Amino acid sequence: MSLRMHESVRPVLDRLDVPTDLLVAGAWRGGHDGGRIDVRDPATGEVLASVADAGVPDAQDAVDAAAAAAAGWAATAPRARAELLLRVHTLMHERSEELALLISLENGKSLADARSEVAYAAEFFRWYGEEVVRLRGQVGLSPGGGNRLVVTHRPVGISVLITPWNFPAAMATRKIAPALAAGCTAILKPATETPLTALAVAALLQEAGLPDGVLNVLTTRRPGPVIEAVLTDPRTRMLSFTGSTEIGRRLLRTAADQVLKCGMELGGNAPFVVLADADVDAAVEGAMVAKMRNGGQACTAANRFFVQAPVHDTFVEGLVARMADVRVGPGSDERTQCGPLINDDAVRKVDELVQDALARGARAVLGGARPEDGPGSYYPPTVLVDVPADARLLHEEIFGPVAPVVRFEREEEMLTMVNDTEYGLVSYLYTGELGRGLRLAESIDSGMVGLNRGLVSDPAAPFGGTKQSGLGREGSTEGLLEFMETQYVATSW
Ligand code: NAD
Repeated sequence: MSLRMHESVRPVLDRLDVPTDLLVAGAWRGGHDGGRIDVRDPATGEVLASVADAGVPDAQDAVDAAAAAAAGWAATAPRARAELLLRVHTLMHERSEELALLISLENGKSLADARSEVAYAAEFFRWYGEEVVRLRGQVGLSPGGGNRLVVTHRPVGISVLITPWNFPAAMATRKIAPALAAGCTAILKPATETPLTALAVAALLQEAGLPDGVLNVLTTRRPGPVIEAVLTDPRTRMLSFTGSTEIGRRLLRTAADQVLKCGMELGGNAPFVVLADADVDAAVEGAMVAKMRNGGQACTAANRFFVQAPVHDTFVEGLVARMADVRVGPGSDERTQCGPLINDDAVRKVDELVQDALARGARAVLGGARPEDGPGSYYPPTVLVDVPADARLLHEEIFGPVAPVVRFEREEEMLTMVNDTEYGLVSYLYTGELGRGLRLAESIDSGMVGLNRGLVSDPAAPFGGTKQSGLGREGSTEGLLEFMETQYVATSW
């Protein structure tokens, strides 16, 4: 492995195996045509490492490997699969500092964020290790009394797992753990920007005793043709994708040809609502978590703040004070609270959205301008007020540390604005009255609601969205059943 990086971090990474090749049939190997992809540190733009670039022949090899391992893995006792997953959970905790540093280096997020991600990511192995041995079918009598209904679950088959760069560990383990627990073999394609963490997790699975071919990993700069080759192979049965709605739609079209089972975790446009009866200090704290985790680069990031008039100014004052205090810097520096964005294109896109809002009449009370050119892809924490309804950033994912605030008077007006989006992943709501919160949650069209909380992610909870935020759920028993087919046997005895 040839990671090039500052001497101070080398001793830590020397304790973690970070392969840089493809994993196919249990062997690490280069791509068919020998190409490599540079992985860069967003804090400096420097190359950290180069990983293999898979082409279509490598994709075919990966499907062959997953197919060869499928029957054996499906026949493994649930307890044996569970024990393997629990070993990986332990290994991730033993190497948590190294994994956190690796995430921070390739993704840019602060070490604090990276450490929480490692704990969250590892938990999927424990949760599904515990869950798969408890999975039950059903036996019932048909309503007419003529026969029995025997219902069981079995692995769906070869699963293609595609993950984004914003949570390089957790988005991978949220798929790998339930897929393997269910008895499926899989092909993982991590994001091109952040492949190293996924490769390190795959090495830990091998260390825990994963049989060859059960998980194969393809890194590629040609995701279109490589994934098309995998999805159109008649042996593939499942697509589990996390990423943008735009790419998700495209993959759904390809998946339609084989009528693949699809789990799609797509984009978000989360509203963060503060009602006049809310505890405003708690709302500001929750807003910092919902907005600033990963510097705003989360599908669950609060994208639009709706604050009721009586508490608007107090909330904005509190938020500006907290945002102004955020220490921006390289993620791997222990003092950093907000790292760089993933790359310069991301900075340009965030700034374009901010300038659009300002041009339409919004006011920046904090930040609001790109830093002068310098190393690293930084954008300053920004708070905008008086944001007009037609500002693009109220309708598109910002994916940066920018909080646009809209004042509202009446609940109905707020609900109309909250639901006026093609997305429906998560919403946040702060109120002093629980009953009111639950009633409003029922009127909000999103798969998840954070009620007086700025964080909803939990391996035991069904994570997922409505509308164009996706299909299906990850986490919880629902996430396991996504990788299973239900079989019903009508029988008389
Ligand atoms: P992206 O859609 O650009 O990429 C996601 C993955 O798809 C990457 O691995 C990428 O290499 C791959 N990909 C790109 N083009 C492809 C193609 N033509 N065929 C097959 N694969 C292709 O998303 P991103 O920029 O990596 O991640 C950010 C997006 O992910 C945001 O929209 C965010 O909201 C979303 N996201 C959603 C969730 C969720 O759980 N709903 C979680 C995290 C991120």
